[in-house]
Amino acid sequence: MNLILFGPPGAGKGTQALRLKERYGLAHIATGDMLRAAVEAESELGRRAKAIMERGELVPDELMIALIAERIEEPDCRSGFILDGFPRTIAQAEALEELLVRKGLALTAVIALEVPDEVLSARIRRRVEESGGARSDDTPETLRRRIAVYHEQTAPLLDYYRRKGLLYTVDGTRSIDEVERAVAAILEGLRR
Ligand code: AMP
Repeated sequence: MNLILFGPPGAGKGTQALRLKERYGLAHIATGDMLRAAVEAESELGRRAKAIMERGELVPDELMIALIAERIEEPDCRSGFILDGFPRTIAQAEALEELLVRKGLALTAVIALEVPDEVLSARIRRRVEESGGARSDDTPETLRRRIAVYHEQTAPLLDYYRRKGLLYTVDGTRSIDEVERAVAAILEGLRR
């Protein structure tokens, strides 16, 4: 199973990805986590990404595509993977498709967690309080920018994947367990 977990910042993609990883033994590919690790390690990628992430903007497509191309070659991806935070632009989605075709792979489904903007803001505000600002891109200004960037550059992917017949939507305002059950029901339906 090769999945994309899709949704705005704060929709719960990371939490659900971990549950899916456990349930189906899939590799969890979280580009935000990979970038934060690169910033931490002060690698070339990290140096280029840091300020962009702090502004809540998107890291350039060519950097992200190179990162994913390399990650998808790792042995843990052979049994399937969950993409969390990628693709975020149409160009990224097109590049992903090319990469997968070249490997003889295909996407199984794109699961979109739907959460209205007001709920996202409240959730991220809570995350900031709870983490004591551990993430330097979890500030009210960055959050507003990240949500705007989502609507401008990432939400068009919903139509892109709907047209391909790959899109499944889940109400992401429900509890973590309820969302997990809804996602699992979709995937069980696909396996039959
Ligand atoms: P996330 O943890 O997925 O919310 O990502 C945190 C930040 O990393 C985003 O606000 C972007 O600046 C950057 N980022 C993560 N994934 C991507 C991507 N696929 N394309 C561009 N930028 C990304």
